[in-house]
Amino acid sequence: MSEARAEWHPDANTTLYGILGHPVRHSLSPAMHNAAFRQQDINAVYLAFDVTDLRDALKGVKALHIKGLSVTIPHKEEIIAHLDHIDPVASRIGAVNTVVNRQGILHGYNTDWIGAVAALEEVTTLQGKKALVLGAGGSARAVCMGLREKHCAIHIANRTRERAERLASECGASWSGLDGVEGLEADILINTTSVGMSPNEDAIPVHPDVLSHVETVMDLVYSPAETRLLREARTRDIAVVSGLRMLLHQAAAQFELWTGRSAPADLMEQALQNGLSQKA
Ligand code: NAP
Repeated sequence: MSEARAEWHPDANTTLYGILGHPVRHSLSPAMHNAAFRQQDINAVYLAFDVTDLRDALKGVKALHIKGLSVTIPHKEEIIAHLDHIDPVASRIGAVNTVVNRQGILHGYNTDWIGAVAALEEVTTLQGKKALVLGAGGSARAVCMGLREKHCAIHIANRTRERAERLASECGASWSGLDGVEGLEADILINTTSVGMSPNEDAIPVHPDVLSHVETVMDLVYSPAETRLLREARTRDIAVVSGLRMLLHQAAAQFELWTGRSAPADLMEQALQNGLSQKA
């Protein structure tokens, strides 16, 4: 594994990158991207910007020549109206988590779906599998896009049934409420709801019995790194995928969009783990 280089100081030529969100002080993205910049000898720094007024923030991005952005809750959908160009896939998902500033033109992309697929493919194949997606929010849209690319059959289950129905009709899936999944046959279960997120670590989005016929479980929640859903799956000898793997892969895809270089994924993972242990 390659080491981050120690001697680097920002100077008059340092390029700025950052994450826009609210709140954002918990973000692990600065740790990952700054480690990658140092390791690749790129004179750049990545900061966290706690932003509520997107329009003003993006004027600042152009005025200050900030070269790239990550975008997180609650701005992923709203930002689309403020960008100059949206990648067709991001447009279909309806959410942008990455911005590239090319000579003052802001281009929006979505790397969440790439991260979800890459994380799942570390433990299973996707082609033609049956997937049960819990949730119908922004990240569910990205996950469903990735699953469709892999020709999976999708069932969407959400607390608010109307949202499940809407997303299902957009991606050719079946749907139900969260209470309608018992007995449903699926190879892969993916939790895209925020249920189980710290501090509600004992919460689980569906009854553990739903796991009985599933081969693989992924939870997008990454704080805690192992949610109750993943613990229940592990005790049943089911392959598990932590949200941290998706977080890492979506960040690696962002780095590649910004720099045109392969991301040092091992080093970014190490930075992610260090960032997590400092927060613990
Ligand atoms: P979102 O658009 O706000 O959607 C939230 C989803 O969670 C909705 O489906 C919502 O259902 C459901 N939900 C919330 N509270 C619930 C409850 N008490 N019971 C049942 N369902 C509930 O949020 P998002 O952007 O999709 O993010 C969702 C989660 O994914 C967050 O924890 C986020 O941190 C995580 N995430 C992780 C990654 C990663 O890289 N690992 C990437 C993106 C997001 P309703 O429609 O009924 O409100």
